[in-house]
Amino acid sequence: MEFKDFGLHADIERALTAKRYSQPTPIQQQAIPVLLEGRDLCGIAQTGTGKTAAFSLPSLDYLLNNPKRPAPRGCRMLVLSPTRELAAQIAQSCRDYGRFTKFSVTTVFGGVPINRQIRDLSQGVDILVATPGRLLDLIDQRALRLGDVEIFVLDEADQMMDMGFIHSLRRVAKLLPDERQNLFFSATMPKEIAALAQQFLHDPVTVSV
Ligand code: AMP
Repeated sequence: MEFKDFGLHADIERALTAKRYSQPTPIQQQAIPVLLEGRDLCGIAQTGTGKTAAFSLPSLDYLLNNPKRPAPRGCRMLVLSPTRELAAQIAQSCRDYGRFTKFSVTTVFGGVPINRQIRDLSQGVDILVATPGRLLDLIDQRALRLGDVEIFVLDEADQMMDMGFIHSLRRVAKLLPDERQNLFFSATMPKEIAALAQQFLHDPVTVSV
């Protein structure tokens, strides 16, 4: 199987060519067709399997094929990550895969001053990669709202739970629009993570690598 078999938007195929990716990894082979159909996904996969491209490529494809322009621009894709390092990596991947698009990708995380992040968000953001605590701080400060989110990605759910983010996740869930596509990734799927997944996902397809 090759990337071109997915029929991704030409702007994404160009980025893949530039990255010299030829073959999709197993998680990408399984997840991309499901996500292109607009289904919710529960992915059991570790970092290093190519899961970032597995969720970014079809999401970028959706955003490109469904343009929306009432100004000011609200965030259309929200990715939650447990750590700032991972958030920065995901944001960089989204920028790489979206380099031939005009989408703005922003990352916000705790441990650094909030003012610059408030300023960044005020410029408008299409894709936001965030850690949960700082995301909620920014919402409380009215620097951001989640009413325009169409794609919600929860990455490394097991690590989120270990780090005590469960209450933050519940709060975020309440702020999201009901109609959205949900992507949930975890390296492991013990009972409490499966229960969390159930709270976020609607009739998901589960893939495991
Ligand atoms: P991830 O699991 O998303 O952190 O990805 C792990 C690494 O694999 C990253 O450095 C990606 O750039 C790379 N990668 C992802 N998908 C592919 C692919 N289909 N072909 C080659 N490298 C890839």
